[in-house]
Amino acid sequence: MTISEKVAYIQGLFDGLGLDKERPGEARILFEVLDVLKEAGQRLDGMDAAMDRFGEELDELRDTVVDLEDAAFDSEDDRDSDSDYSEDDRLQLPCPTCGEDLLVDDEALTAGLVVCPVCGGKFALSFDDERDGSSCEEDMD
Ligand SMILES: [Zn+2]
Repeated sequence: MTISEKVAYIQGLFDGLGLDKERPGEARILFEVLDVLKEAGQRLDGMDAAMDRFGEELDELRDTVVDLEDAAFDSEDDRDSDSDYSEDDRLQLPCPTCGEDLLVDDEALTAGLVVCPVCGGKFALSFDDERDGSSCEEDMD
């Protein structure tokens, strides 16, 4: 039962009393109070309807955010697979001598030296600039 329906019910009781609304006194006051209740009820019902619409829009917005999150994480996965970094963050770069992909682990990073398992060449690691893998220093030998 909405507030407007409750007010209409009270209005019915009021009308049932057969009071003269135009006559000064209690009946007149009751009529004015009922009038205010009717207007307040209509406004509150309007707000309820607006809140319902707002709630529906909020649900739609929430769905949209979830979709966007899914899309964002999907594209991030795609980016990861194209990255130079493998899952455990190790760097991969081609051997300057034989071209074999070299995996640079933490140990090699700490030593600043990577040894190619294919051709046996040793290369100093240099991350001073943004040049690509071919920028590795010459054979340390
Ligand atoms: Zn090599």
